[in-house]
Amino acid sequence: MQNTHPFIARTLADHELLAALDLARLNYPPANWVKTRTGPDNKPLIDVLIVGAGMCGQTAAFALLREGVRNIRIIDSKPHGKEGPWGTYARMPTLRSPKQINGPDLGIPSLTFRAWYEAQHGAEGWADLYKISRLDWLNYLLWIRRVAGIPVENNITLRSVDAEPEWICATLEQSNAQTETVYARKVVLALGREGSGDAKRLTFPSFDPETDTNLTRVFHSSDEIDFKALKGKRISILGAGASSFDNAGTALEAGATSVTMFARRPHLPQVNKSKWSVFSGFMRGYAALDTQARWRMYTYIFDEQSPPPHESVLRCEKHAGFSIRFSEPWLDMQTTTAGVNIHTSKGAYTFDTAILATGFSIDLPARQELASIRGSIALWKDHVPAEVAASHPVAARFPFLGKGFELTERVPGSKPGLERIHIFNWGSTMSHGALSSDIPGMATGALRLADNIVQTLFSEDEHLHYASLLAFEDPELAPTSYFIERDKRSSASTPE
Ligand SMILES: Cc1cc2nc3c(=O)[nH]c(=O)nc-3n(C[C@H](O)[C@H](O)[C@H](O)COP(=O)(O)OP(=O)(O)OC[C@H]3O[C@@H](n4cnc5c(N)ncnc54)[C@H](O)[C@@H]3O)c2cc1C
Repeated sequence: MQNTHPFIARTLADHELLAALDLARLNYPPANWVKTRTGPDNKPLIDVLIVGAGMCGQTAAFALLREGVRNIRIIDSKPHGKEGPWGTYARMPTLRSPKQINGPDLGIPSLTFRAWYEAQHGAEGWADLYKISRLDWLNYLLWIRRVAGIPVENNITLRSVDAEPEWICATLEQSNAQTETVYARKVVLALGREGSGDAKRLTFPSFDPETDTNLTRVFHSSDEIDFKALKGKRISILGAGASSFDNAGTALEAGATSVTMFARRPHLPQVNKSKWSVFSGFMRGYAALDTQARWRMYTYIFDEQSPPPHESVLRCEKHAGFSIRFSEPWLDMQTTTAGVNIHTSKGAYTFDTAILATGFSIDLPARQELASIRGSIALWKDHVPAEVAASHPVAARFPFLGKGFELTERVPGSKPGLERIHIFNWGSTMSHGALSSDIPGMATGALRLADNIVQTLFSEDEHLHYASLLAFEDPELAPTSYFIERDKRSSASTPE
C-alpha cells in the first residue's frame, strides 16, 4: 500500500536510516566501561555470555549493549533465521497477541514493529492490519538485530556450564563438533519455552519414545513435521491448547482426511488470565511480592489455563474432518507399521499419525547443560511447605530466582558462583511473571536483567572504579587562565 503519511518513510531502507539516526542520537552503543578481568586461561573473561538468540536473548543483548556492556557473546545452536519457533514449529498464520505489542524495540519508536510495518505498508496498511503475520514477526526480529548491531553467532551450542566463585566455565560446540571452553562473568540462559525443561514426550504402557520402532508416526508439536506427507491421512492430536489447533489447521490445510483432537477437560479453557497481567503494576510489582502472594497468583493463572485464540479454532472448524473429543484422556498408545492405536477412557481408535501437543515440561535441573550444578539449584518447592508444593507440582519445579533472574542456592553458600547464571526464559515465570517469555513483558524483563547485571559488573570492581575515579583527569579549564596542572593543585579532600 502506498504510504501517504508525511512523517513515515517511503521504504524500509529509508526507515532504516531513520532508525540508525535514532540510535546515533541516543549515543548507542555507549563505550564499554566494564573493567577487564582475566580468566583461568589467561584470556579476558567474557563479561556476559548469552545463550539463545531468540526474541529474549537478542533483546537482553540489546539492553546490555545500550548500557555499555559490550564484551558480550550471544550464541544460538540454530542457523540464522531459524532461532525460536517463528520460522520453525509455530504453525499459526498470525501471532496470538494483538498487533499493538512492544518489546524488542526497548522503547525506541523507530524500532517498533509498527514503525517497521508502516515503512512498508503505510499508515493505512497498519490501520488495516488485523494481527501480525508470524513470518513478519520473525523478519522484524532479524531486522532489529541487524540495525542494532546485535552480534549473534549462529550454529554454536552450549553443552555445559559450571559455576566457580569468579566465573562460569562454559563448553561450546560448533556445528562441526569442535568444542571451545570459555569463561564468562555472567551467563544468561535464554533458551526459550523448552529452556527450563523439555518438550513433553509422553510415554504410555505400550509406547516408549526411547525404544519405539515406528516413531515416524508420532510427533511432538515442536518437531519438524512434513505436513505434505499427511495428505489423505487420519491424524490424532493429544491436547487442545493453541498449538494443538495450529497443528490441526496446518494438517487439514495440507489435505489430511481427518483430525481428531482429544482433551482431558470437559470443555476448552475460556479465559486467558495471563492477558490480565499485562499492565505495568503487575509486570514491575509482581517480583516484589512475597513468596506466598506470588504462589497464589501464578498457580491460579496456571490452573485456569489458556483458551486457544478463536482464529485458530475457526481455522479448524472450516474443515468437515475436524472434531474434538472432550473428557477423553489417552490411557494407552501403541504404534504398528499400519498405524497408531489409541485407547482412551471411552474407546479404541486407529489413526495414521499422532501429534502430541502436550507442551513443555519444567525441570531445570534435568537440563543436560546444567548437570554439574543441578543439585544446587533452589526451586520453588524449596520455598513453600511440602503440602503446598504437592498441590501444584509443576509450579513447585520452577527455579526460585533472585531479583535479576539469577539462580539461587538450595543451601546458601554451597555453590558460590551459581548467581552468575541468569534464567531468562519461561522458567522465570513463577519468580518474575512472564517477563522472559511472552512478548508484552519482555522489555521490562530485559531492562531488569541488564540493570542487575550492570550493578554486579560495577560493584564487583568497585576498588578498580575507585582507582579510576582518583586517576580521572578532565582539563575543563585548560582554555582559561584558571587552569592548574594536577601536581600543582591543592586537593580539597585526601583520598583513602
Ligand atoms: C508456537 C508458539 C507461538 C507463540 N506465540 C506467541 C504470541 O503470539 N505472542 C506472545 O507474546 N508469545 C508467543 N509465544 C511465546 C513466546 O513469545 C515465544 O516462545 C518466544 O519465542 C520466546 O522467546 P525466547 O527467546 O524465550 O525463546 P526462543 O525464541 O525459542 O529462543 C530460544 C533460542 O535458544 C536456542 N537454544 C536453546 N538451547 C540452546 C543451547 N544449548 N545452545 C545454544 N542455543 C540454544 C534455540 O535455538 C532458540 O533459538 C509463542 C510460543 C510458541 C511456542
